Amino acid sequence: VRIVDAGFEFAYVPSVPMQRIEAIARTCYKSEDRITDGSADTFVRTLRGRGHMAMLDHVTASVRFVVDRGATHEMVRHRIGVAFAQESTRYCNYSKAKFGSEIAVIRPCFWSEACRKFSIWHDAMGYAERAYFQLIAEGASPQEARSVLPNSLKTEIVVTADFTEWRHIFQQRTSAAAHPQMREVMVPLLAEFQKRWPAAFDDLGVQQ
Ligand SMILES: Cc1cc2nc3c(=O)[nH]c(=O)nc-3n(C[C@H](O)[C@H](O)[C@H](O)COP(=O)(O)OP(=O)(O)OC[C@H]3O[C@@H](n4cnc5c(N)ncnc54)[C@H](O)[C@@H]3O)c2cc1C
Repeated sequence: VRIVDAGFEFAYVPSVPMQRIEAIARTCYKSEDRITDGSADTFVRTLRGRGHMAMLDHVTASVRFVVDRGATHEMVRHRIGVAFAQESTRYCNYSKAKFGSEIAVIRPCFWSEACRKFSIWHDAMGYAERAYFQLIAEGASPQEARSVLPNSLKTEIVVTADFTEWRHIFQQRTSAAAHPQMREVMVPLLAEFQKRWPAAFDDLGVQQ
């Protein structure tokens, strides 16, 4: 069993999204003549202040998450303005050399390696891996053998969402009520969005 840390990286970064939103949204006011080199951020902040958030639907960003299957099960509940591509346990055969002939699991961010809960969890991962490999050895297909794979299984998912939906995702998934392993990736991701595109995201706070 290989233990890996959760993480993310951008899979697609829009170029000049604030300028794009401005160029499109000024149609509403027929104020295209007021576009200048530095006007986009201020204009997007004005839209935000008015609650004219639908204009943020016009740009998307894609993020590749490395998380466990529990986290992705929650992510795929988002329905509006969002698309997914996820590593498939139907098609990936983790007994193959390209996967290192082992299963990979995500380190639970709430237990230290020294604690008893971590060692109970670690033992369970070992049982699951052995059962998976025994089923494959008996001729089971990966889509059959996956029945014994744990929630902690490492998976990759690319989430493409428009900026309106990313705002909604951050509001739900950085909240104190969200799962710790969701917050583990969403809190730093929100900080990254805020650094890149402050006019669209810097009003969102993170509950402690
Ligand atoms: C803390 C927390 C606990 C949760 N616990 C559970 C649980 O125990 N069980 C469970 O099943 N789920 C649970 N969920 C998942 C939750 O019910 C949603 O499915 C998930 O968070 C996706 O959010 P959303 O519905 O806002 O979807 P999104 O697709 O992100 O929707 C964005 C927004 O679009 C609008 N919208 C979307 N669809 C429609 C529609 N059909 N009609 C009108 N407006 C629409 C809504 O305003 C919605 O908020 C939980 C979520 C959170 C954050």
